Amino acid sequence: NLTVDKTLKWIIKANEKIQTNKTYLTSLDQAIGDGDHGINMARGFQEVVKKLSSSHYETVSDCFKDVAMTLMSKVGGASGPIFGTAFLKMSMAVKGKESISQAEFTRALDDAIKGIIHRGKASEGDKTLLDVWMPILRILQENDDVDWDVIDHSAKLAMEATKQRLAKKGRAAYLKERSIGHIDPGSASSYYLFQSLAEVIT
Ligand code: ADP
Ligand code: MG
Ligand code: MG
Repeated sequence: NLTVDKTLKWIIKANEKIQTNKTYLTSLDQAIGDGDHGINMARGFQEVVKKLSSSHYETVSDCFKDVAMTLMSKVGGASGPIFGTAFLKMSMAVKGKESISQAEFTRALDDAIKGIIHRGKASEGDKTLLDVWMPILRILQENDDVDWDVIDHSAKLAMEATKQRLAKKGRAAYLKERSIGHIDPGSASSYYLFQSLAEVIT
């Protein structure tokens, strides 16, 4: 189960991975975007951790809500509103809950993805972070008591698979064929997010 304590640990761990890989994330975005993804995510998650550490939470939904609000207000570019929307939808899906089961998390993730699609109009295969989020959702839907090592591994493979894709959404789409051969930056940061969850939940 995902408790408030585990949620805080999850986000703190995700921030650590993003800070450690800030330069790498930025280099991915230099290849097919405007070179700020590492900077955007590092600044956003630093602010998120600051907010979470200075607050007290009774529910997972309130944690998610503060993650969402902070990302939306502190991160410019595409990724702030997109990750922000995802956490806001998750917050609404688990409203008032102190702890959430895998089934509840799965439904929340489903809502998060619908929010991402509503916001960015991308489909799976367009070389965006959806290419990582959607396979993770399917694995959770298909396995009642999922092995989180499988989530970690699958998220990594899904991220790597974006390398061969042609971008249809976001800045990388302007490059057309030249977007092929580079990992999507938002898929890489999404991998850190799911890897962090896998590490704290087990
Ligand atoms: P920007 O492109 O505005 O500089 P970032 O560099 O922070 O913003 O984030 C880029 C990432 O956002 C991409 O790698 C991609 O995963 C994600 N992204 C961009 N556009 C969309 C979209 N329409 N739908 C979903 N994700 C998107
Ligand atoms: Mg960018
Ligand atoms: Mg930008």
